[in-house]
Amino acid sequence: MQYNPVETVRQSIRSISDWPKPGVTFRDITPVLQDPRCFRMLIDIFVARYMRQRLDLVAGVDARGFIIGSVIAYELNLGFVPIRKKGKLPFETVGEDYDLEYGSSSVEIHTDAVKPGQRVLLMDDLIATGGTLLAASRLLQRLGANVVEAAAIIDLPELGGSKLIKESGLPVHALYEF
Ligand code: AMP
Repeated sequence: MQYNPVETVRQSIRSISDWPKPGVTFRDITPVLQDPRCFRMLIDIFVARYMRQRLDLVAGVDARGFIIGSVIAYELNLGFVPIRKKGKLPFETVGEDYDLEYGSSSVEIHTDAVKPGQRVLLMDDLIATGGTLLAASRLLQRLGANVVEAAAIIDLPELGGSKLIKESGLPVHALYEF
């Protein structure tokens, strides 16, 4: 049998119909994380992509972006910066609001999280409308960061998020399209 880590990880992503509401198929990465072999394959796939790039930091978006982003940062010997939902960070922050399908949300970053000119890889688990990653990249750019790429495990191309991110001038990368 051929060893194909990208395909092995893909097969461990669980799809849950009508969650959290009717019509939505939730792409659940917890089975990937709970299997040590799959978890390592997932991380190694990203590490191989970024190991020869000049990066200073990995920024991860609350909450699943923390899980993969922090491990990738550790493996690449880089620092990690959390971009959190509003009201969670204790120091001075800047925030960005963005629209969801129904309503809106807000993400924040510490004002001293990034130094101007630092090269940052931005990570989340999934790109749907792209609103979350675009708001996160605006935050990093407001602090003077050079956002090298927005990366995710999964892209839902029908929702147009990765296209929007690309059109904003930010390179975007996802392992899988669902
Ligand atoms: P968006 O801002 O619309 O691109 O949404 C991306 C964020 O919402 C990510 O942080 C995802 O974790 C979460 N998300 C949106 N849609 C899904 C989905 N179908 N399955 C799993 N997570 C999702």
